[in-house]
Amino acid sequence: MGIVAMPGDANAATIQTMLSCTNPYWAQENPHRAMQVHIECTVGVCVAKSVAYETLHQQGKLVPDSGRVS
Ligand SMILES: [Zn+2]
Repeated sequence: MGIVAMPGDANAATIQTMLSCTNPYWAQENPHRAMQVHIECTVGVCVAKSVAYETLHQQGKLVPDSGRVS
């Protein structure tokens, strides 16, 4: 696991931002992708995933991923 599809316009800075667990801004703008990128992370520990989770939850777009998230 761990292979993540990068967007076509990704550059080094974009990728670093995407993969950072401490960057809530990108995650809020791209919650779906953040959930994919940080799929191995834990809500409440990884800031990016926590923000993405909350964003999708508020939008009613949250799709439970096999009970991983409590
Ligand atoms: Zn993370």
